[in-house]
Amino acid sequence: MIDIVLATHNKDKRSELSKAFNSKDVNILSLEDFPHIGEIIEDGDTLRDNAFIKAHTVYGITGLPSISDDTGLEVDALNGAPGVYSARYAGENCSYMDNVNKIIKTMSGVPLDLRTAQFKTVMAFVSNKMELVSEGSVKGLIAEEAKGIGGFGYDPVFYVSEMKKTFAEMTMEQKNKISHRGQATKNMIELLRSHQIIPNSQENA
Ligand code: IMP
Repeated sequence: MIDIVLATHNKDKRSELSKAFNSKDVNILSLEDFPHIGEIIEDGDTLRDNAFIKAHTVYGITGLPSISDDTGLEVDALNGAPGVYSARYAGENCSYMDNVNKIIKTMSGVPLDLRTAQFKTVMAFVSNKMELVSEGSVKGLIAEEAKGIGGFGYDPVFYVSEMKKTFAEMTMEQKNKISHRGQATKNMIELLRSHQIIPNSQENA
């Protein structure tokens, strides 16, 4: 059994990751288990920089293998914005709804075929042995109005054509199956297996 610390205070992210790993092989801890670490400043210029800043900080303090993820919403009509600044798009300390309202306003009048966007997640792993990085992404359209009450962040305006639903209209299982974070997690698990950090068990294959 290996302990891996997920560099987040977010309980949903921790349970999402715990479910993805085989619980017999991996025990997922989080920053809730290390309250002295506090908030980590994410001041990198890219999602990858931020993911490694968090994973290095947590590994440096705990000495345990650490995983961190950083996500951005990249809107093609906005040249990839808000991207790495997704959390504070509408300003410092803004709410999820502030961000949703700002993107609806900014995209107002943009025709359907130019409303393309993607969520991108970069996941970093740091241990005493190695550093690994994985990515995941999902394509969608920025909806003209918010729809649905599930999820968080930009979910009410992220419309996935194949599902004919916004992320906020999907169940958590539906979203996790196709989401950027779900893909990045799957790719990270494969990398950890191929580098023999975790067993190549059949149970989660
Ligand atoms: P983080 O790197 O996971 O903290 O994500 C940065 C920001 O991207 C969040 O504050 C949200 O605004 C947005 N975000 C990340 N993941 C999602 C998602 O799954 N759905 C909607 N918005 C998300």
